[in-house]
Amino acid sequence: MNQTSEFFAYVHQGGDSLSVNRYKTLIDHLPVMIFSLDSAGCLAEVNAFFLKKLGYKEEEVLGKPITEFISGGYKDLFLTQCLAKLQEQDEIVPLELQLTTKAGIWIDGSLTGSRITDGAMGGNILFFSILDVTEQRRTVKEIEQMAYHDDLTGLPNRLLFRDRLQMSMSQAQRLNQNVAILFIDIDRFKLINDSYGHQVGDKLLAYMAYQLMKHIRKGDTVSRFSGDKFMMSVPFMANEEDCYLIGNRILDFMKSPFMVEDHEFQMTASIGISLFPRDGQDVDSLIKCADLAMSRAKQNAGNRFEVYTPAMNEQILKKMNLDRDMRKALEREEYVLFYQPQVMLPEGRVYGAEGLIRWRSPERGLVPPMEFIPLAEETGMIVQLGYWVLRDACRQTRVWLDQGMSPITISVNISPRQFAQTDFVQRVSQILEETKCEPKYICLEITESTMINDFESSIKIIKDLIDLGLTMSIDDFGTGYSSLSLLYRLPIHSVKIDRSFVQQMSQSQDSSIVNAIIAMCHRLNLKVVAEGVETIEQYDLLIQDGCDSVQGYYIGRPMPAPDFEKFMLNFKAVEPTSK
Ligand code: C2E
Ligand code: MG
Ligand code: MG
Repeated sequence: MNQTSEFFAYVHQGGDSLSVNRYKTLIDHLPVMIFSLDSAGCLAEVNAFFLKKLGYKEEEVLGKPITEFISGGYKDLFLTQCLAKLQEQDEIVPLELQLTTKAGIWIDGSLTGSRITDGAMGGNILFFSILDVTEQRRTVKEIEQMAYHDDLTGLPNRLLFRDRLQMSMSQAQRLNQNVAILFIDIDRFKLINDSYGHQVGDKLLAYMAYQLMKHIRKGDTVSRFSGDKFMMSVPFMANEEDCYLIGNRILDFMKSPFMVEDHEFQMTASIGISLFPRDGQDVDSLIKCADLAMSRAKQNAGNRFEVYTPAMNEQILKKMNLDRDMRKALEREEYVLFYQPQVMLPEGRVYGAEGLIRWRSPERGLVPPMEFIPLAEETGMIVQLGYWVLRDACRQTRVWLDQGMSPITISVNISPRQFAQTDFVQRVSQILEETKCEPKYICLEITESTMINDFESSIKIIKDLIDLGLTMSIDDFGTGYSSLSLLYRLPIHSVKIDRSFVQQMSQSQDSSIVNAIIAMCHRLNLKVVAEGVETIEQYDLLIQDGCDSVQGYYIGRPMPAPDFEKFMLNFKAVEPTSK
């Protein structure tokens, strides 16, 4: 029996009136709500704190059922877990419930109750005390929110997601159902973040979170996993086809444009989906499968979803093997540079060559760059490989000059990741010095995508490279993002028209695009190189259009250095057919 009920027992058993008054004052001043109920569950006595907390006068509450003051969902709990139990036992364990004040505000309370036998009346009296734990609960909720939710979006974080997924999986197992796990990654988010700033990026993420929340059903969980990656768990999936519906629904709602700080955005996402129990038995494997499927969606240009298949694992394994072999190839010196001649128009004299990497693998044969450069880009190995290429091109240039070959300019491809290295200019300068190669014989080819992230600092780097004495060129022009208007701000020397335009030109006999690029570049004092020239017709058309130089199979294929030396010895100027 607790002290409050001891007191009530004392009062009810007829303690002397002075003591009773003293105790009553004491009870009224206690910061706890105290009350007793009659046999019908109506309020018989209340202390002053009870009235103060709930905002009623004594006459408004006495004789009323206590359930009138208990919030909706807790009424039953009180009747079954408290009143019913006190019929059989003297005390109950503390019960969490909620009361509603006269003003309609909820109070979280921790209730204890006791039953005492009324000596005078012979019946049972029920006494209760309620501690106000509203503040305490709010603090706990805040701490939970911080520990289990993401600050920026308010969504459940990784921890809570895993927990909820685990629960959905257990439930699905019992009910013989599936749970879909979706890995959602916003396409090109880094680009938006870098171009518009983190503030806009953060708003986009919050908007994305809001949209995802709006489109989920009860029981689904959406969580921000990291950066621009969101996870969703969707229980009660009948089969794989159900996943298609969700995937499509997300892609659909993302399509609608929206405004953030005066900029209009239209986002797309890459989504990977795995299914429990088909694809894995534990949370980690399921997330991994969804992640793999997401990478596949990304590789396929994004704005799509992919459902995990075991074949995806095999491909990852293949990639891992390729990466391992590529690293070994560097140690074993299996990479070689091929050289493809470039001729000046209209006279057809060789003035340069583009250095193009090949991998002479004992196991795989001669591997073309498109089979390993993309992976090297992805893993970052391109940085190391790129410096190897530059060093080898500089070394070869020096050797050819020393052998007395007429001087030519060697073009070297620079990957965006290499260009983004903070010490790039310094490393280039070092390589030139080490190989004793004069910078004027080296041209660096960068693509439009190299500059998209930070145009201003790209300009600065290009200027520094030109200050070293190098020539700069834009490769694959017309395939990337940069608009023509950006060209005039770039301190470059030449532009290489992508070979797709050259092909188009001869197929349709329409050279208007090539024509326009050449005219515009000339107005900006830029030289134009056409790449992928395969036929005499293309060659002739390019001369007519005033193109400065060409590169392509029509002149010569990329070839190893010794073959290139022979090519140079035997080369006679290419004559156009048109007179
Ligand atoms: P790219 O820099 O645009 O190089 C031109 C590509 O077009 C070369 O392919 C070349 O062989 C091919 N090509 C040249 N003339 C013709 C033609 O008349 N017809 C056709 N159909 N193709 C022609 P390759 O050597 O396979 O290189 C492909 C791409 O790989 C290069 O495109 C470049 O982006 C990348 N790459 C090659 N070597 C390196 C390198 O050392 N570093 C980096 N970062 N990338 C490289
Ligand atoms: Mg190139
Ligand atoms: Mg190119």
